[in-house]
Amino acid sequence: MSLMQQILALHSVDVQVRALRGRLDSAHHYLKTQETQMKDLLAQRDEVELQRKHTQAQAANLEMEANGVGIQIQKMRDELNNSGNTKQYSAILSNLKSLELQKDNFEQQAITQIEKVEQLVARIAQFDVKLTDRTTLRDKAAAEMNERTKETSSRLGELDRERASAASHVPAPSMLIFDEVANIHDGEAVSPVMTVDARSREYACTACNVEIPYQLYSRLLGDGTSLIQCLSCKRILYLELAELEAASKRKPVAKSS
Ligand SMILES: [Zn+2]
Repeated sequence: MSLMQQILALHSVDVQVRALRGRLDSAHHYLKTQETQMKDLLAQRDEVELQRKHTQAQAANLEMEANGVGIQIQKMRDELNNSGNTKQYSAILSNLKSLELQKDNFEQQAITQIEKVEQLVARIAQFDVKLTDRTTLRDKAAAEMNERTKETSSRLGELDRERASAASHVPAPSMLIFDEVANIHDGEAVSPVMTVDARSREYACTACNVEIPYQLYSRLLGDGTSLIQCLSCKRILYLELAELEAASKRKPVAKSS
């Protein structure tokens, strides 16, 4: 096998490994997204719940204050009934009025806080509905993830072994190039060269369409001891069988580089 044939063999198993791993990764990513969204929702719900507790405590305090003032008012009414003279009576009456205002004020504030509590309780209920939906989605994502893992793990193990075996035939420097380019292009490490115009020796990389100089093209027709990369996209270039045949017809001495 020539170096390029080894690279093509490696590429054919590498794309399968990537596709399968990609499916697993996307299921994993989807599950993680669902978990993050649930965590965010729970954090928001906790915050509103904290506000509710705080507001409820405030409402209870205000009610207690109003009750306290209510007791004072009751006492003062008794004093009013037992007051000895007009001066004393009007003094108590004025105090009583101010206490009643105070009580009203506390009660109004308590009502405002209770209304706030009701709004917060409604918001918490909305969060609970969302959380129920999210939980369903998260559970579905987890089941999907398990299913895919079960489905693909044995095939992935097989492919990993095939890839390792194909890679073992490729010399280390070429392997480095292959891995680098495959990572850049998401597995698309190789690209056939196409003839744009044979008479004017115009050739191009099929993947990126950038022109391949004749000098590189003729090296592809050579002994194939080193990899030739596209000057633009860096993909490893090769000639497909039809291209090789056409080239050898055009130029019977193509074997020498
Ligand atoms: Zn290219």
